[in-house]
Amino acid sequence: MNNKNGSALPAETVDVLVVGYGPAGATLAALLGRYGLKTLVLDKTHEVLLMPRAIALDNEALRILQLAGLAEEAFEKIVIPEVRMHSPLLGQFARANTAGCIDGHPKLVTFYQPDLEQAMRDQVSRFESVTSLGGFELDNLAEEADCVVASVRDQQGQTHDIRARYLVGADGASSRVRSLIGQDFTGKTYSEDWLIVDAGNRRQAAIDHVEFLCDPQRPAPHMPAPGGRERWEFMLHPGESREEMQSPESIARLIAPWIDSQELQIERKAVYRFHARCCNSFSKGRVFLVGDAAHITPPFVGQGLVAGLRDVANLAWKLAWVLRGRASTAILNSYDEERRPHAKAMIDMAKLMGRLIMPRNKLAAFLIHGLMRTLALTPASRKYFEELAIKPKNIFRRGLFAPHRRGDKLVRGGLFPQAWVRNAQQQMQLSDEALGDNLTLVGFAADPLSTLSPEQVFAWIKLGGSFLHIGACGQRPVGDCVFIEDLNHAILPLVPRGTLAVVRPDRHIMHHLPGIQAAELVQSCLALMACANSTADSVSITISAPPRLRA
Ligand SMILES: Cc1cc2nc3c(=O)[nH]c(=O)nc-3n(C[C@H](O)[C@H](O)[C@H](O)COP(=O)(O)OP(=O)(O)OC[C@H]3O[C@@H](n4cnc5c(N)ncnc54)[C@H](O)[C@@H]3O)c2cc1C
Repeated sequence: MNNKNGSALPAETVDVLVVGYGPAGATLAALLGRYGLKTLVLDKTHEVLLMPRAIALDNEALRILQLAGLAEEAFEKIVIPEVRMHSPLLGQFARANTAGCIDGHPKLVTFYQPDLEQAMRDQVSRFESVTSLGGFELDNLAEEADCVVASVRDQQGQTHDIRARYLVGADGASSRVRSLIGQDFTGKTYSEDWLIVDAGNRRQAAIDHVEFLCDPQRPAPHMPAPGGRERWEFMLHPGESREEMQSPESIARLIAPWIDSQELQIERKAVYRFHARCCNSFSKGRVFLVGDAAHITPPFVGQGLVAGLRDVANLAWKLAWVLRGRASTAILNSYDEERRPHAKAMIDMAKLMGRLIMPRNKLAAFLIHGLMRTLALTPASRKYFEELAIKPKNIFRRGLFAPHRRGDKLVRGGLFPQAWVRNAQQQMQLSDEALGDNLTLVGFAADPLSTLSPEQVFAWIKLGGSFLHIGACGQRPVGDCVFIEDLNHAILPLVPRGTLAVVRPDRHIMHHLPGIQAAELVQSCLALMACANSTADSVSITISAPPRLRA
């Protein structure tokens, strides 16, 4: 990071101060840079942490990294086709089918966290409006009427004050920001410790899937990672000391069923105590919490960092819209409202999977694993476990969107699908690239511009809105609107032709209505952005000019 001392700190008030330059803080900084905000990211350390931590990411996480501007090849990944669960008594008793893609990205990949963090820092460095500084530790903060004043200590022990319109705590599980805003973690702390071993030089011999050895004596997840790496995680027994279990002899013994200790090249090892905890609010006033600062989960379903990425995608654009004066500050309340229930649901799923896959005694293991094997024979339960329907859907219950409607395939508050499309320049691209950074009014086989009066078009653009026309494969653009062809017919069938949808910059659906109600749609979204407490139902609609329908 680019600093040596306090003189590098900006003297003027910044838009956003991000405390913590881990993966959540770095991704937030990249998004804020993309939205053009004057951002300062501070970290008490200078380098990316090399400890063995996150290894798996899902399609939603990869889509957020795409949103933050990371190219597909920015960091290496291994696509995981399946997750297998083995019992010493019953053999393979369950599997999760992770082959294929959702919204343009593989359902499950493994990666090397330091590579991702470095790639994200490189991305951040492209934005002039973002400064990242190492060697500054947050000590204290005070909220004033129009800003937050943060006291940070440099490595010489000198204290400096930084003023920011908003402050985001991305400072990890022991977050200082969290304790300064009085948001202690609630929830369970697991008593078991786990030994994590990352081995290198396994390019020829590594497995190509994830396996859970569900032995109640010693459960052990095992998976491949890029760069010829492989990871094992071993639960420690009460009385086994961390030091003893991390010794080369213990590791050689634990890994013996897979590799001869002579071949073993240990790259990293660490013992962690897993936690399942979430704070009661992700924000207070001008201060927000993201990533591990807000929630921590056992890694049994690989969702800790993924949840942090969902946080930053949700928060970044809202901060940008408020700071640019395009939306009321009230929309910031929807960050906690939208994110906390889903983060909690993911923690609950990780706890459930831990109990199902790795029961602590032999009888429970035999019964649970036997039941899971039997259930796998019925299509309904196969869908639940094998096809991952058990995973909580990222659909908001409350927040900055129009109320849900029963039976909708395109769910308000849910994610807008992503698919391969062709733009007017005949280039293939993923559809999010056409959505860009704006609040987008999308026309399904209809030009959204043609449905609005010039005043409404102006109001929409003033709100930070843009327009996108999605046509069928082979259709040619008409009019001035940005146009893409839905090459695989993946988006258009979700709603009747002529529907208009409003997609937020974080790719969640704010609203959709038939094109004939275009004016009402725009007016409802303007009202939502003026006040998160308005719902489409409670908005009184006044339209200055009747809508012109040319489509
Ligand atoms: C064994 C293990 C396996 C995991 N597997 C997965 C997985 O497969 N998939 C997944 O999604 N997640 C997984 N996770 C979780 C994932 O690693 C974390 O959720 C993620 O690293 C948290 O990122 P963060 O940016 O929120 O916090 P951190 O990475 O902890 O970053 C916080 C940063 O804040 C800085 N900081 C702290 N205090 C201050 C202060 N006062 N002032 C200034 N700077 C400060 C720190 O130096 C640090 O750089 C796993 C975790 C573990 C331990």
